[in-house]
Amino acid sequence: MKHFRLAVIPGDGIGKEVINEGLRVLEHLSQTSNTFTFESDYFPWGCEYYLEHGKMMHEDGLNKIKNHDAIYFGAVGYPTVPDHISLWGLRLAICQGFDQWANIRPVEFLPGIEGKLNHPDKEKLNWVLVRENTEGEYSGIGGRNFTGRGPGKEVAVQSSIFTEEGCERVIRHAFELALTRDRKKVTSVTKSNAQQYGMVLWDEVFQRVSKEYPEVETDQCLVDAMAANFVLHPEDLEVVVASNLHADILSDLGSALSGSLGLAPSANLHLDGRFPSMFESVHGSAPDIAGQGIANPIGTIGSAALMLEHLGLPEEAKLINDSIRAATKDGILTADIGGNNSTKEVTDSIIAHISKMYASV
Ligand code: NAD
Ligand code: MN
Repeated sequence: MKHFRLAVIPGDGIGKEVINEGLRVLEHLSQTSNTFTFESDYFPWGCEYYLEHGKMMHEDGLNKIKNHDAIYFGAVGYPTVPDHISLWGLRLAICQGFDQWANIRPVEFLPGIEGKLNHPDKEKLNWVLVRENTEGEYSGIGGRNFTGRGPGKEVAVQSSIFTEEGCERVIRHAFELALTRDRKKVTSVTKSNAQQYGMVLWDEVFQRVSKEYPEVETDQCLVDAMAANFVLHPEDLEVVVASNLHADILSDLGSALSGSLGLAPSANLHLDGRFPSMFESVHGSAPDIAGQGIANPIGTIGSAALMLEHLGLPEEAKLINDSIRAATKDGILTADIGGNNSTKEVTDSIIAHISKMYASV
């Protein structure tokens, strides 16, 4: 029997609502499967913590969670706290502090959801975005008004960092992931026509690594054209690898096409054995719907499946994903995907399907 210690950071807004649903599914699965147990340590970090303490997490926050087996994260963001403070103070502090260099963001077209993509065979589409997660455009390096020219003449510089090692590890991961999938295709996305240093380095690394994977089909595409391809040629895509900013944008596009931001799971992976990985939905704290009990929990529940897979429980992960599909197929849907079920009802339906699948074994 496996046992895990989870660091749970619900965060703000709907983050707090959906993380509870994910934990309910994990509790149920733990009891039904009898293959794992887990304990949760809660950390109340986020914008409310910031308003009280002046920081998004405890001063010694990373040390408090570095020995857990995984981090389960809701979302952060609050109308009265600037977004760059909430993002850098918590999520990016963890992703970069724990060198979680691969952000895996699957996009699935679930049954029973109309979505926004007009494609006859869309349930067969199965994309996964592999996002570089520690450098690139989110290097955090830059400055404002460094010329001292004063108000109205301000100059800001925001630098990107691309290291050969940073590009190579995430690109290599995309190829390894492609080897495990049906189509075995990797598409690399850059903007190397306009950004001739970092992104040309990325392109060169992509071409070099691709020679080691002759069985994997490859394609390279500029990010603006890729945004169009997501809509116009969705069947051309399987594994898509891109920089921090580009993959961030494309993953919101992908999830919207599949129906809603609320459906998209993600894994921030540290794969070198020193730190825990972090699992969270792609969406933010959604202040517009917070507190109403209508947030879609599927992205966060799907993130729990990614967490179990990472922790060596692929069958249990598959059970969660199959139960999500069964629930949407039954038409148990929140408002963002055209239904009128509550957050809790969607989770209850997923839990009921997990029970049913065990009963039929
Ligand atoms: P958002 O993802 O919170 O919301 C965008 C839209 O999608 C909203 O209309 C929202 O209602 C809807 N939506 C999102 N998740 C949903 C769900 N589970 N169910 C139903 N509808 C859902 O993005 P935003 O509005 O740009 O940002 C809100 C706050 O979240 C900001 O403070 C932002 O900085 C923060 N944010 C945090 C993260 C994170 O914690 N990882 C990611 C993105 C944005
Ligand atoms: Mn994003």
